[in-house]
Amino acid sequence: MTANEFIAQLSQKLNRSLLSSLEACVRCGVCAESCHYFRAMPEPQYIPAQRAEAVRRLWRRHSLLPRLFPRWFGASLGDDDQELKKLQDVVFGTCTMCRRCVLNCPMGVDTGLIVRTARGILASAGYIPEGLKATVDIHLATGNNMGVSKEDLVETLEWMEEQLQGETGDPEAKIPLDKPGARYLYTLNPREPKYFPLTILAAAKIFYAAGADWTISTQAWDVTNYALFSGEDAAARQIVNMLAQEAKRLGVKEVIMAECGHGYRAFRWEGENWIGEAYPFKVRGFVELMAEFLEKGTIKVNPEANPQPVTYHDPCNQARNGGIVEEPRYILARVVKDFREMEPHGENNFCCGGGGGMLSMTEYSKNRIAAGETKARQIAATGAKIVATSCHNCLDQLAEINRHYKLGVKIHNLCELVAEALVLEPPKSS
Ligand code: SF4
Ligand code: SF4
Repeated sequence: MTANEFIAQLSQKLNRSLLSSLEACVRCGVCAESCHYFRAMPEPQYIPAQRAEAVRRLWRRHSLLPRLFPRWFGASLGDDDQELKKLQDVVFGTCTMCRRCVLNCPMGVDTGLIVRTARGILASAGYIPEGLKATVDIHLATGNNMGVSKEDLVETLEWMEEQLQGETGDPEAKIPLDKPGARYLYTLNPREPKYFPLTILAAAKIFYAAGADWTISTQAWDVTNYALFSGEDAAARQIVNMLAQEAKRLGVKEVIMAECGHGYRAFRWEGENWIGEAYPFKVRGFVELMAEFLEKGTIKVNPEANPQPVTYHDPCNQARNGGIVEEPRYILARVVKDFREMEPHGENNFCCGGGGGMLSMTEYSKNRIAAGETKARQIAATGAKIVATSCHNCLDQLAEINRHYKLGVKIHNLCELVAEALVLEPPKSS
């Protein structure tokens, strides 16, 4: 790809919000302090406007002026490959697309949108970190982003079903698989069957306690969609379609997205646009459903089961970019004894540094850990012993921050704290 081809593709993708984001920056610098990269590493290159400026620079050099004065600019465009590689490092390596800077920009510049668009164009020409590309490719090839086989999935789910029966004392307790017409189709993050099956057990316990009509598909179950991060709309569409088609085939009423910030945003808020049709089912995050179970008294909990101080990290794509802010707080107020907010929080929360697919791009790990310093300070200031969150990417990054900055906290998915606090009725058969 040449830089001119990059610009030609960018021109094709221009819509009103992208154009105004490219044009509107007045270089006021207000966005600087809103970015966790700049706060941890206060250098000009980490001011949010600089990510967009890297795209604008190409735009200006290879679009407007060369078109007006081709002979003046034709010979001075530099090495395209070098330029595009440099841009690759900026848009993949220095921005998690958390969009906190958007909230704080007086001109409404959407750096996240500019970065994702640039990522998509670069990816189409092979300018994409190998780890991120592999994650998307494995998802497309196997149906989930870790290549978990159907046999391994079923084996793990059967094992968790046995655990569920043991914990509830109910030999009839089930993790229903591929159940047509179920009310809820529950999704999983591949990390769960692969490394953290107890998170599945926690969710199963909550569904069991609620007496819910639910199922897990063994065909399409991955909650994630890394094409949101790679910017590849065609791949994003395919991934959304896998789950949407399965939900249709089973005839479920709702798809419940397991705790995953970007997966929730991708399927709930972007998916219908990508596939070009409305879903015939409802989509909610598990956090929303757990809050409803509590509100309606469908499940009973005892906060004494979680006596240690707990704080909550809002995943950017669930809170700021997904609108789920009150529900986790409603839940925590009921399932833990001592909840402490970190400041700022909710939609103004700082990214932990693990967003944007950053955990799959090992070449940027050093910066990722450095950029996590803001989150480490926030956590330490609460004095909490447990950090709850509702996203596996955040969970991984928080675990690394915990080790690196020696925070001495435990990190849990929200559903694990809910499951811990459950007050289970005796099995109906007893
Ligand atoms: S706050 Fe907005 S207008 Fe100001 S420098 Fe940042 S992106 Fe540009
Ligand atoms: S989107 Fe987030 S990571 Fe990217 S520049 Fe803005 S604040 Fe920084």
